[in-house]
Amino acid sequence: MPVYDPHSYVKPTQAKITHIDFKFNVDFATKTIQGQAAYFVDKFVKGSLYLDNRKVEIVRIHTDGKDLEWELDKQDPILGQRLHLKKLMGISSFVIDFITNPQANALQWLRPEQTLGGDHPYLFSQCQAINARSIFPCQDSPSIRFTYTAEVIVPRPMIAVMAAAPKTIQTEGDLNRCRFEMPQPIPSYLFALAVGNLSSRELGPRCRIYAEAEIIEEAAWEFAETENKLIEAEKMLGPYEWERYDLLVMPPSFPYGGMENPRLTFLTPTVIVGDRSYTHLVTHELSHSWTGNLITNATWEDFWLNEGWTTYMQMRIDEVLQGSDYSQMKIELGRGSMLAAMQRFGMNSKHTRLNYNMSGIDPDEVFSVIPYYKGQAFLETLENAVGRERFDRFISKYIGTFKFQSLSTKGFISFLKEQLPKAVKAVNIKEWIYKDGFPADAPETNSKLIDAVDASVAAYSEGILPTSDDVRNWNQDQITLFLRRLPKAIPVAHCQQLEKIFNLAGGRNYIVLSEYLALAVRSGNDKILPRVEKYIEAVGRGFLLRPIVQAMAETAWSRDMIRPIVERYRDCHHPLTVRMLERILSDAGI
Ligand SMILES: [Zn+2]
Repeated sequence: MPVYDPHSYVKPTQAKITHIDFKFNVDFATKTIQGQAAYFVDKFVKGSLYLDNRKVEIVRIHTDGKDLEWELDKQDPILGQRLHLKKLMGISSFVIDFITNPQANALQWLRPEQTLGGDHPYLFSQCQAINARSIFPCQDSPSIRFTYTAEVIVPRPMIAVMAAAPKTIQTEGDLNRCRFEMPQPIPSYLFALAVGNLSSRELGPRCRIYAEAEIIEEAAWEFAETENKLIEAEKMLGPYEWERYDLLVMPPSFPYGGMENPRLTFLTPTVIVGDRSYTHLVTHELSHSWTGNLITNATWEDFWLNEGWTTYMQMRIDEVLQGSDYSQMKIELGRGSMLAAMQRFGMNSKHTRLNYNMSGIDPDEVFSVIPYYKGQAFLETLENAVGRERFDRFISKYIGTFKFQSLSTKGFISFLKEQLPKAVKAVNIKEWIYKDGFPADAPETNSKLIDAVDASVAAYSEGILPTSDDVRNWNQDQITLFLRRLPKAIPVAHCQQLEKIFNLAGGRNYIVLSEYLALAVRSGNDKILPRVEKYIEAVGRGFLLRPIVQAMAETAWSRDMIRPIVERYRDCHHPLTVRMLERILSDAGI
């Protein structure tokens, strides 16, 4: 069935790209990539072919040495430009020579001082949702898959890594020529490249971790259990189809927690805290190897199929490996973030739905955890309706039926009707998928870890602060949940006491600190300002910056101070994070 994608100029009836051979020359001085891409399509093209392009400068388009006719249509603020190849005379391959724009929004160029090593620059890409088109012209729709090879030239001693199989690294004078091959077909948003002075360690027969040398040992320890997760995931989801599962620890400015780039997950360093508290993030990205990378949302309107399924599988795998108290706590925290996001949009906003028409809406502008946790709760509701054993058979069938394909919400519903009629009868599918807000009959979380926090929150409302002894055995999630469940503002003296009890003064746990600093700001603790500023400089993960920046923007004493701080550290952040921060400020009228 042809897919209409509101976020791409691709015409479903035209030929589809099936393979690309890339050559990239990475130039840190001009912040550009000079590229050449040889495209192969699935049928002979006569007439027109449309590609997506955002600010990539087209140098030449040719085939067999002959120039082809082309034009770029007008710039659309969300889609970019349509690149129109014209008057084609029955070709099945063509070559585009191009140069990326220094402002390409998939790429972040870091100066040496923004890295841990401090001696070499760093480059990384983030293509999801619709940013691959700012690196190379492509059919930038998740419903179209291609294989590729790439040759990437970078300055020594830096190396390139890609979400692909590394082949060879050849040193030529001052340059490294790195070759890759991606034999499994991927949608464009899973194209990924990073360049830096990287070290690596083996974690297991199929897993390796890459990071800057300064953090590689800590990172290898934190994520040492990755191969075990892979084995557990295979028991539930079937054979791992991507051969290797490697990790790349990003610089702190990486805008997300993780990105499930196939064969090479990109991970924020904010989860390296020395006690493996946040390795559920790896469980999540790993699960995407099936739900997302094998079965891909047809368009960004179906994003919940990627994220809802993955969050559900994350919960299931964590439950086996770390127990249900742990996995349920993660769901509880995520659900709290989801409800906060719903309140931000408005509980009656269409952005709280799992599926709605997104024409004219930039998916990056409305990105939130709603599809993750509302999707997870929906799938858990379906599981409860038929029992775990039956639902697990459904999962196997689902993966087997749709792997290496795209699936729309409608396609999912008809598969569900066919396979699990009992669940379709018992569950209000339409409400879950098409209605605003969060259904009242969603399955409740259940965890001893949550109960302990709630007891302390109740005591606090009676005026009793926890003692260090009370919280000695608490994990990081419990501290986060406790801080979140306190009143929005508390006496400054209580802030200072909590800081001691939870040992937050010199802490580098950016996740707990995100909650604590936001609470301290709202509570009027202006002494916290230098730490807030340091945090905004050091952390680029949007999810962690949001609570603090929002608290600053909404609190009288700090309101006028936040814009200058955000602007001072603007170039420490990824373009996606900059846009998000700008949105928080403008929503607050700053
Ligand atoms: Zn995800």
